[in-house]
Amino acid sequence: MKKDEWTLDFDDVEDLKDKVIRDGYLWDDQLDMSAHRAVAYRTLGRKLQTTEVVHHCNHVKTCNDRENLFVVSPLLHAVIHLAPWSAGVYELGYTKTNMRDHRMLCRFLDELGAPYIWLGDKKYVSSR
Ligand SMILES: [Zn+2]
Repeated sequence: MKKDEWTLDFDDVEDLKDKVIRDGYLWDDQLDMSAHRAVAYRTLGRKLQTTEVVHHCNHVKTCNDRENLFVVSPLLHAVIHLAPWSAGVYELGYTKTNMRDHRMLCRFLDELGAPYIWLGDKKYVSSR
């Protein structure tokens, strides 16, 4: 696959023209890490561990607004992505569309009782 086939078309995304993109994610040259992990670093005041994954709630890899980012374990990350395809989860009101809203994802994770960090409000750290 040619590089051009998986990178964004810069002509369509005016404000991303100066940003470096790797695998569809923005890169932070200053911290030499992916931009979403850099946002977590700056928000939490510490580097993420390798066992901490950043989930883009709206599934837009280049949207690194703090309220769009959740720090979770790799297993919980898999659950977030797979849960909407489980019939029982769907019946609880969670869909692949509404789980892209950070309020719905917070509700889902709270109901699950799983530890996570929502960077939209770093004080809101659930660690049950
Ligand atoms: Zn994700």
